[in-house]
Amino acid sequence: MTDDLRPGGLPLTAPKATDLRRHRPAASDPPDVLPRQPWPAPAFAAALLDWFKLHGRTDLPWQRQPTPYRVWVSEIMLQQTQVGVVIPYFERFMARFPDLPALAAADQDEVLHLWSGLGYYARARNLHRAAQALMEQQGGLFPQNIDALQALPGIGRSTAGAILSLALGRRHPILDGNCKRVLARCYAVAGWPGRSSVLAELWRLADRLTPADGVAAFNQAMMDLGATLCTRSAPSCSRCPLAAHCLAFQRGRSDAYPEPKPRRKHPVRQTRMLLVFDTDGRILLQRRPPSGVWGGLWVPPELDAGQEAADWCRIHLGWGIARLEILPPRRHTFTHFQLDIQTLAVWPTASRPIAIRQDANAAGVAESTDQTWVNPAEPGKVGLPAPVRRLLAEVAAIGRDANQPTTGLT
Ligand code: SF4
Repeated sequence: MTDDLRPGGLPLTAPKATDLRRHRPAASDPPDVLPRQPWPAPAFAAALLDWFKLHGRTDLPWQRQPTPYRVWVSEIMLQQTQVGVVIPYFERFMARFPDLPALAAADQDEVLHLWSGLGYYARARNLHRAAQALMEQQGGLFPQNIDALQALPGIGRSTAGAILSLALGRRHPILDGNCKRVLARCYAVAGWPGRSSVLAELWRLADRLTPADGVAAFNQAMMDLGATLCTRSAPSCSRCPLAAHCLAFQRGRSDAYPEPKPRRKHPVRQTRMLLVFDTDGRILLQRRPPSGVWGGLWVPPELDAGQEAADWCRIHLGWGIARLEILPPRRHTFTHFQLDIQTLAVWPTASRPIAIRQDANAAGVAESTDQTWVNPAEPGKVGLPAPVRRLLAEVAAIGRDANQPTTGLT
């Protein structure tokens, strides 16, 4: 690995903001006017670690007792999600599943329930599967070999590196979204980081810059710098310890790195959901298949294309419909598409609904069936996707008079 990657040659101490402004060239300056001198990896680490001592985050919940298990759960939760959002989820998760055996032994419904609202539910399903695999194959111990860690469901190179470096002090680079942004700017790495060649270059830089000593602090500092100063928009370059060597800053082009994902128009899909009320005001939910969109989560029944609500109720419940209400449409955005949801609320003609639930398990869900009736105010320990959770909360907030069937949402 060479040290002659990019220019530096400027003082290692962070310059004053006024000095930085004086050094700052116009965005149109060609890059080769900059001095081509090496940025020694130890100097990069030293500048970052000095900043981290003063400004780094050292009291996040997963930094207390940073065991491999706690670091792993936090890293999975932090994928695509900001720290402030993750903290309450992490604390609830740890209160219920304080260690690997507790998570492995849990019912998937309860895991998804504690994940409800965080999105990207494959993360929770993989976490659960990986916990079970670790218990069955590794005796409940985390492998300390990065390849073995990466073989577990949902653990990529960066997550494996974080577990080994933050929990065990092993020298492994990480490359989460924050690190990618910092490196892409400091070294003016062109291209979208999702492209394999760009990603390879970023990994090469991360590997080169990661020190052998103080690796946990260094990796945490990279994430902190990206989250607090080198933010996606309006980075605080005047306060940045890397500004003197940052190519993007020197070129006045912090906004140009990293390049965004090439835009593609996301398709819009449609679905019709049936909000079936029973005579007690409960709502029917069905568990989705274990993989795919909202895999393993509980949602109202969906109508097939062209299927009438009355036909669905007659076929699946043996009821006629006393009343049907069309609720305002909702749109939910996924990573790759948008989903327009048309919800139809229906009330049965039957005086009592067919009892679907039999024996509830620890999560409060019948194990023998993929259908359940829930009180919208207290849906129980089941995983609910965000739009369904919101819908139930709205129904519960309005309340319902059993003698006057209406959701009050129209
Ligand atoms: S100088 Fe600005 S763009 Fe460069 S790493 Fe620091 S905050 Fe990011």
